[in-house]
Amino acid sequence: MIAVLAGGTGAAKFVRGLLEVVLPETLTLIGNTGDDVELWGVHISPDLDTLMYQLAGWLDEERGWGVRGDTFACLATIGRYGEPTWFQLGDRDLATHLVRTNLLRRGYSLTEATAALCARLGVRARLLPMTDDPVRTYIHTPSGVLAFQEFFVRERWMPEVMAVEYRGSERARPAPGVLEAISEAQGILIAPSNPITSIGPILSISGIREALAERRDRVLAISPILGTEAVSGPAGKLMRACGYEVSPLGVARFYAGIVGRILIDDQDAGWREAIEQVGLRVFTAPLRMTDRAAAIRLARAAIACLHSEA
Ligand code: GDP
Repeated sequence: MIAVLAGGTGAAKFVRGLLEVVLPETLTLIGNTGDDVELWGVHISPDLDTLMYQLAGWLDEERGWGVRGDTFACLATIGRYGEPTWFQLGDRDLATHLVRTNLLRRGYSLTEATAALCARLGVRARLLPMTDDPVRTYIHTPSGVLAFQEFFVRERWMPEVMAVEYRGSERARPAPGVLEAISEAQGILIAPSNPITSIGPILSISGIREALAERRDRVLAISPILGTEAVSGPAGKLMRACGYEVSPLGVARFYAGIVGRILIDDQDAGWREAIEQVGLRVFTAPLRMTDRAAAIRLARAAIACLHSEA
């Protein structure tokens, strides 16, 4: 069994490779729900959706989110009513949110609703939300506090970031199965996801850090930072705002104490010694997932690092 801590797009690219290297039945993905949002009366879980669509073979891999070939007639009609349309919602994607919301209203937990959606799509890997409790990521900016989707999608992550808050995390408990997956897995992978807004919310939940720290030597993080930049998105900007250098060393410092191994890009081998001083074992491989073959190679490298006794 392998457990994977995962955000959305970066994690989904990685999972695409992983599915070619290990049996889906041996995978438990623990997904971030700090990005979740309620819009038009429906509960949207962007990261769980991206992962589920990848596992089901539905993901629009060009965009990195949503359902391949989706249409946007509903969203266009919402715009026709003069309502805001900054949050892209495909018609088929909307069906997922409607069914999820209906299950939640009938009393399902988010874990149960996610399992039901996955089962109906024939997904064989296990997908767990990090928690069934409401935890929401807020971004503090000079002009006010923004919910994560407002910052990321509506404001295109332009505002200056002063602080990041995982609201509700002090009361949240790990979802059923999360701590067991971490303690029972042969190895735990931290996907190449945004450390601050994808993995940070997962780590903010009581018990998860401790469970990882206990398995530290079996936990491998894959860096989302190559050189001194994120491959995509605001990870660099958010790391800087939270006091971390934007480099594989900054990633290592963010994960120090809960991660015993880190996979960094071949080109970044110069950081090896500095990272070793933080207490992590360093492995290198090409980390850029430019296509399916590259994602498969990265997944193979990650599994090998996890099992390496060297
Ligand atoms: P989000 O919730 O959609 O932002 O998804 P994630 O947090 O999972 O993914 C975003 C992160 O993935 C960013 O920090 C990127 O730097 C990282 N990422 C995207 N593509 C790649 C890639 O090809 N290789 C690596 N190593 N990281 C990547």
